[in-house]
Amino acid sequence: MKKALLILLALVASVSVQAATPWQKITQPIPGSPQSIGAFANGCIVGARGLPLESNDYQVMRTDQRRYFGHPDLLLFIQRLTSRVHNLGMGTVLIGDMGMPAGGRFNGGHASHQSGLDVDIFLQLPKTRWTAAQLLKPQALDLVSRDGKHVVSSLWQPEISNLIKLAAQDTEVTRIFVNPAIKQQLCLDAGTDRDWLNKVRPWFQHRAHMHVRLRCPADSLECQDQDPPPPGDGCGAELQSWFEPAKPGTTPPAKKTPPPLHPSCQALLDEHVL
Ligand SMILES: [Zn+2]
Repeated sequence: MKKALLILLALVASVSVQAATPWQKITQPIPGSPQSIGAFANGCIVGARGLPLESNDYQVMRTDQRRYFGHPDLLLFIQRLTSRVHNLGMGTVLIGDMGMPAGGRFNGGHASHQSGLDVDIFLQLPKTRWTAAQLLKPQALDLVSRDGKHVVSSLWQPEISNLIKLAAQDTEVTRIFVNPAIKQQLCLDAGTDRDWLNKVRPWFQHRAHMHVRLRCPADSLECQDQDPPPPGDGCGAELQSWFEPAKPGTTPPAKKTPPPLHPSCQALLDEHVL
């Protein structure tokens, strides 16, 4: 490929990451009864709540980004999970990105997290609470080896398996995304109790955090759910395909032009963003 073309492509890529989206201009939740609207990767939310920033059970990272909003069901899930983890003496849960005040598309980093039902949670459980400075510039712990084939054994803790398992066993959770090497380790660690592994899905990146997704709330009539994952623990051929070169699943999907907004999300933007 010609060098000029490569430079042009690099420019286009950097612009697409930097470009602000109208959703970032909405700085407060849209008032109303909570409604998750549209798809996880093309949606928005009315009546979102901010996750309380003070808790004995969890700490919220990068609060300056104001990505700690979600459907009340997501807040309840986070509180349920983290109080169990805390009561079991496993450490403090570190909460990463949820969604913006009205949900919607980010200017980079996430394709989903748009309808108030997704949350990123770090795969480390500090025994000592982090300082405000640590929370603003969090140090991610990369649990996956450089070749991507296994977890780094010196960093892997049984508590991390337990954290993911507790999240997966929550009835409101439909999917958890982790790196294929992490899924593989969970497959090895799990004993005969393996049903929860069904929800844990291998995906690109996710080397230091898990991405937890809830089902659509029953009264969010415009929320678009996904089909459940295929049956089984997902530890067999499908997982192995991630470790084979030049097979589907080894290159990230190409960035596509975003699809048109859900009509209710478009209406919300028309009303709230000039
Ligand atoms: Zn995520």
